[in-house]
Amino acid sequence: MDEFGQLCYEISNCKNCDLSYSRRRAVCGYGEQGAYIMVIGEAPGTKEDIEGIPFVGRSGALLDRVLAQCGISRKELYITNSVRCKPPFGKAPRSEHIKACSSYLSREIKMVKPSVIVPMGNTAIAALSIVMKFKTGKVTEINGKILKLGDYLIVPQFHPAAILRSPKREEVFRGNFERIAFISKEIKNKGMENLLSSRDIELVNL
Ligand code: SF4
Repeated sequence: MDEFGQLCYEISNCKNCDLSYSRRRAVCGYGEQGAYIMVIGEAPGTKEDIEGIPFVGRSGALLDRVLAQCGISRKELYITNSVRCKPPFGKAPRSEHIKACSSYLSREIKMVKPSVIVPMGNTAIAALSIVMKFKTGKVTEINGKILKLGDYLIVPQFHPAAILRSPKREEVFRGNFERIAFISKEIKNKGMENLLSSRDIELVNL
């Protein structure tokens, strides 16, 4: 078993918080080691809970459509969640769930080594700030900003479920992914150093 298989085995059998009682299946991250972009959502929904794959419901369909419009395929991504088990009654995960699950996110970041991390929504921003030990604002204040922390660029984004609830934000959501596509292509073609020295990129150091 490789290290991704080992991690998924541990997640699938995890009982570190009470969400283990409400899940059908824990949902592991999906994607390749070395993916340039890691996208982090909130928690599995009903369809993900049944199929055991992240972002296969309505939010996933919206995400796929916008990613395709921006020239990003799922193959270029590693996609995961802040918590791996579905909370009951469609509720958001609580802070104790996010903390209990954060060691898995930490391991995924070390294993995948993405250049760009995209926490989608306030739960994902909270999970990432636990793992990477930074403080920042809410998604409405910082979405689309390019935050630099160590070797990583972090570009907070709205969660696709928020766009389903408020479609007028879709243009901003797409614009943020266009920026993410541009950044990741620049890193691929020219390297991180050249990107960081570019005048077109406005960075916020965390
Ligand atoms: S949400 Fe995370 S910590 Fe809680 S039981 Fe599921 S895998 Fe374990």
